[in-house]
Amino acid sequence: MGALDIRTLRARLLPNPLRILVNGVPMRILVANDDGIYSPGLRALARAARQFGDVRIFAPDVEQSSMGHAITHARPLRVRRTPIDDFDAYRVNGTPADCVALGIDAWGGVDVVLSGINLGYNLGNSIWHSGTLAAAKQATLLGTRGIALSTPTGGDEPDFGRLDPYVTQVLSALIPDTALRLVNVNLPPQPTGLCWARQAVRHYDGRVVPDEDPMGRKMYWISVRPVEEVEEETDLWAVRHGRVALTPLRLDLTDHEALSGARMRMPMPNGQPIEGAPADA
Ligand code: MN
Repeated sequence: MGALDIRTLRARLLPNPLRILVNGVPMRILVANDDGIYSPGLRALARAARQFGDVRIFAPDVEQSSMGHAITHARPLRVRRTPIDDFDAYRVNGTPADCVALGIDAWGGVDVVLSGINLGYNLGNSIWHSGTLAAAKQATLLGTRGIALSTPTGGDEPDFGRLDPYVTQVLSALIPDTALRLVNVNLPPQPTGLCWARQAVRHYDGRVVPDEDPMGRKMYWISVRPVEEVEEETDLWAVRHGRVALTPLRLDLTDHEALSGARMRMPMPNGQPIEGAPADA
C-alpha cells in the first residue's frame, strides 16, 4: 500500500486520456458495494474506475444488501486482504458504510468513492434501504464524494460487457465534476443514453407477502410491488425508457417548506420556559 508498484508505474507512463491527476498524483478512487466483495458488479466497476486513477477496494465479506446506512459500533472490525484480479482489495466483516469509513481512513483520504455496481436497481424510495447508496453517502458524510451505481438482474447476471461503455461515460461525466457530491446512477440492461433524473417519491413498492413454510406455519416476505404509473423525468421513468438515470442527491433531510410553515403556525420563541416545568432546570 502506498508503494509505487508496477501497475502504478505503467499507469503513469502510458498516456490515458481519462486519467485524472489531483495535486499531481493519480486520483484516489475507493470502490465499495453492498453485494459483497466477490460480486461481479464490483469487479466491473473497479475495472472501469481504473481508467481514471488509482483504485482500492474495500467491501463487505458477505452480502449486505438492504442494510441501509448501518454502522457497526459494538464490536471491532477486521480488514483482510483479498485477491480480486490484481487490485488492492480488502474484505471487511462489516456494513457498506463501515467499509467506506475504513477504506478512507486506511488510504489517508480519497478523492471519490464509487459504490456498486449493485445487482438490482436502487430507484425511488428504495434509496432508503440501499446499502449501495449508504456507501456513497458515507463518503459524502466524511467530506469526500460518492457515486452509487446499480443495474437490474433478472435470472441472469447483468451483461457488464454491454454496460461497460456506459459506465465509463457516466464516470467521465461525474468524476471530474466536483460540484456533484452524491449521485445515484441506475443503468437499464440495454441503455440507449444518459439523462438527469429526479428521485421518484410518489410510490413506495415495499409490501408484505404472506407465505407458508413446509410445516404449514405462516411466514412473510418483505418484497416489492411493480409500480405501474411513473412520473416523467424521474429515475424510474428514465430506466423504463432505456436511459441511464443520474440523480444528484443531498443529505439534508430537512423539509424546509414544512419547517417555515410550522414556524409560522406555532412560533416557539427561543428559551421560553414551558409552563409547569421547574424554572431552574
Ligand atoms: Mn445489493
